[in-house]
Amino acid sequence: MRKKLVAGNWKMHMDWNESMTFLSEFVAKESSEAWGDVDVLIAPPFPYLRHFVEFTANARSAVKVGAQNCATEEAGAYTGEVSAKMLASLGVPSVILGHSERRSLYGEDAKVVGQKVRKALEAGLQPIFCCGESLEERENNVTEERLRQQLEESVLDLDSSEFEKLVIAYEPVWAIGTGKTATPEQAQETHAFIRQLINDRYGAALAQSIRILYGGSVKPGNAKELFAQPDIDGGLVGGASLKVDDFAEIVRCAF
Ligand code: PEP
Repeated sequence: MRKKLVAGNWKMHMDWNESMTFLSEFVAKESSEAWGDVDVLIAPPFPYLRHFVEFTANARSAVKVGAQNCATEEAGAYTGEVSAKMLASLGVPSVILGHSERRSLYGEDAKVVGQKVRKALEAGLQPIFCCGESLEERENNVTEERLRQQLEESVLDLDSSEFEKLVIAYEPVWAIGTGKTATPEQAQETHAFIRQLINDRYGAALAQSIRILYGGSVKPGNAKELFAQPDIDGGLVGGASLKVDDFAEIVRCAF
């Protein structure tokens, strides 16, 4: 049985005061409701990470903290970059990599994403590797080809001992921040395809153990049905992770 994971990607939202209010309200809900059966993660902007790590530890919260990106290098003259090693030194356990916004707005190609995944693994972080097709690719019936390519070019050459540490997030680009969600059937079919790819490369045991999250306009109103699909192991949530009540409700949908 794979434990479900609900991860909130805050992107570049929330100032310091807003994020502190969110965190204390959210953790208060967690302690009154016992969310033990689901892993919950929040990925705030870089400057808040250390505080989130300390706050959750002091509150004995099970909420995990993730970063939204890391550098391809470990250290050096790379102005503005933050390395996986630095994140690990803050006590951050996970990092989102290959998000479609990083790919489209910052030109990250498969090679760059693959390098970041390796740096994250070397630093002991869990990469949450995002992949997904564009609307055009879905309409042209090349979704599977695109996903195969994204996985093959960035992560399917990892050793099984490394690959097993990944979480995969399937995020159809046309569903991110658009209010359009893949139907549970569409998402299930694609998740099953991704799991089969992993099965073909690494075998059934690893394929069955790896978590594949769905991302793309997950909301309290659609999360339950999505998370009920056999190959959907939780969600990567953008917009709806910015509201305490909505995010908490999405976590409940994963019970
Ligand atoms: C995301 O940013 O990963 C995402 C899925 O965003 P949203 O939930 O807003 O579509």
